[in-house]
Amino acid sequence: MADYIVRAQAAGKQVRALAATTAGLVEKARVIHRTTPVATAALGRLLTAGAMMGCTLKEENNLLTLQVTGDGPLGMLLVTADAKGNVKGYVKNPDAAVPPKAPGKLNVGGAVGRGALRVIKDLGLKEPYSGQVELKNGEIAEDLAYYFAVSEQVPSAVALGVLTGAGGSVLQAGGFIIQPLPGCEEQAVAKLEEAIAGLEGITGLLAAGLLPEQILERVLDGFDLEILERTAACYHCNCSREKIEQVVLSLGGREIEAMIADKEPVEIHCHFCNKKYVLSVADLQRLLSEA
Ligand SMILES: [Zn+2]
Repeated sequence: MADYIVRAQAAGKQVRALAATTAGLVEKARVIHRTTPVATAALGRLLTAGAMMGCTLKEENNLLTLQVTGDGPLGMLLVTADAKGNVKGYVKNPDAAVPPKAPGKLNVGGAVGRGALRVIKDLGLKEPYSGQVELKNGEIAEDLAYYFAVSEQVPSAVALGVLTGAGGSVLQAGGFIIQPLPGCEEQAVAKLEEAIAGLEGITGLLAAGLLPEQILERVLDGFDLEILERTAACYHCNCSREKIEQVVLSLGGREIEAMIADKEPVEIHCHFCNKKYVLSVADLQRLLSEA
């Protein structure tokens, strides 16, 4: 099944809801980065959140970045998403492993550790919007809910899940974000809190093979759910030789001269897709003439 994101509203526009199925893009991230199961889960949850939050951006050229900087074995995680369902990301230490919390229960919080979550929205303005909170527990979903509550003053229910199989491959992945909108009646907020508290874990819903629409129907039972939009989601890196050359150019003439003095081609890896770009000495000399 192809990945997609659902944007919906409920209770007559009083509640905003997003849900996604992301097994394909999380599996692609796993293959690119060769992540251990706990790294797959951490990066997969962040990718899923990024894909959903990207869909709330207003303009096509807007970009959303989620950065988790923890002191655990995984190191930093970074995800970037656009408004069209394209998402990409990486984890600093994809081979990190920590003992599970319980049999079959990955310790994502332990692998992330303590630190901060930063949300950056590039809305095409002079300065990007940026908000940061301390990590609640490093499990990603709770950290994002905390971010929404503190930085955006929106109480939110966030659930993110990644199920991996015996060989480490991704069986199911997905999640939801549900938020009462300003002006939402208190009665509706209370009912929403009750519905979410009574919910079985997201992993159970994913394991049962529920589609995003079905997950929202389950969570927002009795809320008059209205699906607004479905957006295909995929893992997509838009790096190119031109962009890599721009990065080298931005290092400045002196740095490029030093590279030329080494008389060796320079290899540059894209963090997001692991594609390798090789700049020959001649390429570097051309760049120097442009610098
Ligand atoms: Zn790339």
